[in-house]
Amino acid sequence: MYRTTSCHALRASHIGQTVTLAGWVNTVRDQGGVIFVDLRDREGVTQIVFRSEDEQGSLAGCHKLRAEDVIQVTGAVTARLKGTENTKLATGEIEIVASELRVLNKAEVPPFPLDDPKVNEDLRMEYRYLDLRTAHMQRNLKLRHRVVKATRDFLDEAGFFEIETPVLSNPTPEGARDFLVPSRLNPGTFYALPQAPQQYKQLLQVAGLEKYFQIARCFRDEDLRADRQPEFTQIDIEASFVGEEDIETLVEGLLVRIFKEARGIEIPTPFPRMPYSEAMSRYGSDKPDTRFGLELVELTDIFTASTFKVFASLATSGGTIKAINAKGAASLLSKEQLKKWEEWVKTEFGAKGLAYIKWSTGGEWDSPIVKFFSETERAALAERTGFAEGDILFFGADAKLEPVCEVLGRVRLRCADLLGLIKANADQLNFLWVVDFPLLAFSPEDNHWVAVHHPFTRPKADDVPLLEAGDYGKVRAVAYDVVLNGVELGGGSIRIHERELQAKMFEVLGVNAEAQQIKFGHLLKAFSFGAPPHGGLAIGLDRLVMLIAGAESIREVIAFPKNNRGADLMTHSPVEVDFKQLREVYIQSTAKKG
Ligand code: ASP
Repeated sequence: MYRTTSCHALRASHIGQTVTLAGWVNTVRDQGGVIFVDLRDREGVTQIVFRSEDEQGSLAGCHKLRAEDVIQVTGAVTARLKGTENTKLATGEIEIVASELRVLNKAEVPPFPLDDPKVNEDLRMEYRYLDLRTAHMQRNLKLRHRVVKATRDFLDEAGFFEIETPVLSNPTPEGARDFLVPSRLNPGTFYALPQAPQQYKQLLQVAGLEKYFQIARCFRDEDLRADRQPEFTQIDIEASFVGEEDIETLVEGLLVRIFKEARGIEIPTPFPRMPYSEAMSRYGSDKPDTRFGLELVELTDIFTASTFKVFASLATSGGTIKAINAKGAASLLSKEQLKKWEEWVKTEFGAKGLAYIKWSTGGEWDSPIVKFFSETERAALAERTGFAEGDILFFGADAKLEPVCEVLGRVRLRCADLLGLIKANADQLNFLWVVDFPLLAFSPEDNHWVAVHHPFTRPKADDVPLLEAGDYGKVRAVAYDVVLNGVELGGGSIRIHERELQAKMFEVLGVNAEAQQIKFGHLLKAFSFGAPPHGGLAIGLDRLVMLIAGAESIREVIAFPKNNRGADLMTHSPVEVDFKQLREVYIQSTAKKG
């Protein structure tokens, strides 16, 4: 037995006991020949005292101890001297007076001080096993375990079976590029790593399993950002004989359980529901952060007879004019900064510009466009937006509604940040369901309609006639996203379970009958053998844990993540493979050596 207890367990009540601890040397201090070691294990830290007179005997080696050496110590739990207690440490009242030391393994000097938050991330990733020794990474991984455990417990109690689905599978249309794996046994053919277990979980419903979940690894070959990884984990759920409300209630229960067990907080349910169209028009986002107002205000009707031609012609031809009032922003943004904001909306979102009116305290309305507005228009504008001294109004105007909402939605978030509204509401947890998403969107690049979620999503019963009539843009889906503080935690839908409707949907998406057979023949066939009505959802586990941990990036809650070039700096993956290995799988590289 290496130890009798952990480095977190001992208190004043244990004084007098003899214990054995094992762990890593966190720090060493030599005070006039007496060595103080903070010994660390996963649970915590305990102070050990080595009195040097024993150095030749059972304490041999105590003078040579260095940070990260692995040791085993036996000694007596003793009260610390009055005045030397450490109230910040759970074990701060006691110390172990060592009677025996065993050095289990020596350590080289670590390449960086483990608890220094300023260490370059690449170095931390190269030595990830050392980085993971730090208190905050251990805390994050413990939290992740708690979340997964709460998920398993909750779903098990709700009658769900955890079922694994293949990782070597066929391409699934979730909207990203696939990772391909060549099949040696079937020359010239490839598996795709699943972007999500979508079709398998639906097939498990056809198979009569009724309630499925999986902590599923998913793979998407996308450009990476702070909250994206090429492989990530979803809490994947599917159930039969359920409607939208059933899935939403189930997921609320799951999140209540997770937040209770991982953070000890009680979150109120039910979460508010907001149709997609309302989320877009009020917040300019399909994942609105509702912790603060700064809502988009509709102004189109004010400008129908304006002498400002740009606005008047939009207002009379079905276009949209909206604004947000950044209360109190006038003193925070100079004209140069406003220019930079304009550049930003142009380059990032392809907007034509960012019209504004700035009303500095004691000043006039300052704006490139205001000279064109009549008195009535000015009065109506100020009234509707609550525009007052010290504010800036930002305008969005376009022939189409979506770009106006999207650009103002981004401006809204930037204003919230500038005005300190995000910081001021950091402790709030605003959960929300966004519902009634559009089923289809027209893709100008592909020149055909694409699924907003995926092709298996069910149209709303009321909107099926619109689908049949070819009025695709108006069809709403039985789809729902769960949002927390402006972050999409997860999303799902009630599915199509009828063969004909699924085939119709593929057809709308430009997949002809022949291609349907090749790509989705198995699913269409399965639907002809008595597929129950079913639906589900997936929650992004990494992102959820990131939010619960208060981390900035999902890399902080994944044990061995990739960097933003998709590389693992510790193992150097991905690596080149030799010609022979490629030949075995019938592959020849066309990559240029560089
Ligand atoms: N498969 C979907 C996704 O990965 C989730 C779902 O519809 O259940 O986003």
